[in-house]
Amino acid sequence: THFGYREVPVGEKQKLVGEVFSSVAGSYDLMNDLMSLGIHRMWKRHFVGTAQVKRGDRVLDLAGGTGDVAALLRERVGADGSVVLGDINGAMLRVGRDRMTDRGFVRGFEYVQCNAESLPFPDASFDLATIAFGLRNVTDKDAALREMLRVLKVGGQARVLEFSQVRAEWFRPLYDFHSFKVLPRLGKLCAQDADSYQYLAESIRRHPPQAQLQAMMEAAGFARCSHRDLSGGIVAIHSGYRV
Ligand code: SAM
Repeated sequence: THFGYREVPVGEKQKLVGEVFSSVAGSYDLMNDLMSLGIHRMWKRHFVGTAQVKRGDRVLDLAGGTGDVAALLRERVGADGSVVLGDINGAMLRVGRDRMTDRGFVRGFEYVQCNAESLPFPDASFDLATIAFGLRNVTDKDAALREMLRVLKVGGQARVLEFSQVRAEWFRPLYDFHSFKVLPRLGKLCAQDADSYQYLAESIRRHPPQAQLQAMMEAAGFARCSHRDLSGGIVAIHSGYRV
């Protein structure tokens, strides 16, 4: 399903995102490594390493997919803490659960199939809520941000790791070449699926840049919002607090 830059009705977009991730679930981890030359591991490590979290905390990782961030969070909350991995896609969630079990993580994990736009958790139930490479796929991002705020305890932190706007002008043509020429070919070669990877490249370009996303977090009600670039703005980490 290739749908380029045309406007897609909301319900249809949700369905397409569903198809994209069902179709890439099996090859998702390999493709992440190939596409980013393994650098996504460093971004995720930094994202979790600098999060406000301590042993015993209860944390939510939204759009958790195959569980990279959830596994890192588990190391930080320890055996007394718990990690809820939420994702809208059953196929991604199943790959995530299998991978966690293979890594020896069983206790302290919950897997919840849910839409980030309307979470099935009570108010004030988490110390930290994260979403990594997920927000750009969510149709109503403002709703997702408001839901993250709602489920946080007072004093809790929300963190977003997402592709963002590359700062250096000279790097942009190179980056576009990688995204629009290399990625779909890699997708075709490794996953027999060029369209899904074309979609991923396009969704990155449509995602709000740094300052705009921070303004969205402020509008959703987060306090002390900030962001920082990683790798020259290829990705950015946004955070905000519930006060
Ligand atoms: N966080 C993981 C990582 O960093 O490797 C997975 C990121 S993957 C690119 C995006 C994930 O977002 C997919 O697993 C997809 O199913 C999920 N997703 C898309 N829309 C969603 C929504 N509305 N609510 C929850 N999850 C969603």
